[in-house]
Amino acid sequence: ESQLNPNYNFANFVEGDSNRLARSASMAVANKPGGTSFNPLLIYGGVGLGKTHLAHAIGVEIKDKYPDKTVLYISSEKFTQQFIDSVKSNTRNDFIHFYQMIDVLIIDDVQFLSGKAGTQDVFFHIFNHLHQNGKQVILTSDKAPVDMQDIEQRLLSRFKWGLSAELQAPDYETRISILQNKLFRDGVEMPEEIVEYIAKNIKSNVRELEGVIISMIAQASFNRKEFTIELAKQIVDKFVKNTKKEVSIEYIQKVVSKYFDMDVATLQSKTRKRHIVQARQLAMYFAKRLTKSSLASIGSQIGQRDHATVLHACKTVDNLTETDKQFRKYVDDLLKKLTL
Ligand code: ADP
Ligand code: MG
Repeated sequence: ESQLNPNYNFANFVEGDSNRLARSASMAVANKPGGTSFNPLLIYGGVGLGKTHLAHAIGVEIKDKYPDKTVLYISSEKFTQQFIDSVKSNTRNDFIHFYQMIDVLIIDDVQFLSGKAGTQDVFFHIFNHLHQNGKQVILTSDKAPVDMQDIEQRLLSRFKWGLSAELQAPDYETRISILQNKLFRDGVEMPEEIVEYIAKNIKSNVRELEGVIISMIAQASFNRKEFTIELAKQIVDKFVKNTKKEVSIEYIQKVVSKYFDMDVATLQSKTRKRHIVQARQLAMYFAKRLTKSSLASIGSQIGQRDHATVLHACKTVDNLTETDKQFRKYVDDLLKKLTL
């Protein structure tokens, strides 16, 4: 049993600028599994952008082209669970042996291996065996290898051997195509202005684009209603509200300190060490930018500082963002983490 979902294929994966590289690398791998330099192929990107879909599509295509090859799709969680079970039942070697016999191994969401030293170790050995024997490995992750945490260095370096291809959020044109493709497959007609309204308002997640269409169809048929822009607005609003993360000053401090690999107490401490001061100033800056709290309230929540300190922090961050490229990257990274 390959665990592949035939509905996730290349034919219904809509191409756009945001996925072109990942899609063509996936097709190259599907045409010549183990026979390209894309080994492993690692597809990474945010939630709902098509990682699982592409991973299946590769497997489905290989099964079609090379029926004799053994292809296996498995989530990292399931792989971890199987490994733990094998240790418990004293069948660890069978587990390893099973995986070493596969021609094409697809492991989804490898970020779940983070912190799981035993599973990483066993996967390291399986990976080496497959790779040495010209077998294809396909991985997906929500992060690029450089941003993965608590994954052993030797495994990370293997992840970087082949190609890492990013799936980005689709641009407007691609969102329109995805919606039209979905409607076409469902045999549903929808006025253009409604499709455009949805594409304008749901930006960062293909699963949500599809979700809106599914809700629209369900609501309209249940209430015997037409597709109207009002209905689209109602449904889109629900999706947008449900996915917006509540940003609190506490949450900002957590995200910033994690990003700089320190704990919140350190971020709040009185130290004048440069990197800690910068982290603290960034937390203040984002608290000002992303919450409605006053400078005084921000100061009191971030290590008992006064409003002047917060104001100074905001100005400093603004200045550094203009002049310091590395610092600009911190701000961009953190903004993404805090708002996506
Ligand atoms: P991820 O694994 O990145 O969270 P999925 O692969 O589960 O995302 O994709 C979410 C949904 O969006 C799936 O139903 C998938 O078929 C669909 N999807 C994503 N990208 C595309 C695309 N380019 N064309 C068509 N459907 C897509
Ligand atoms: Mg997925």
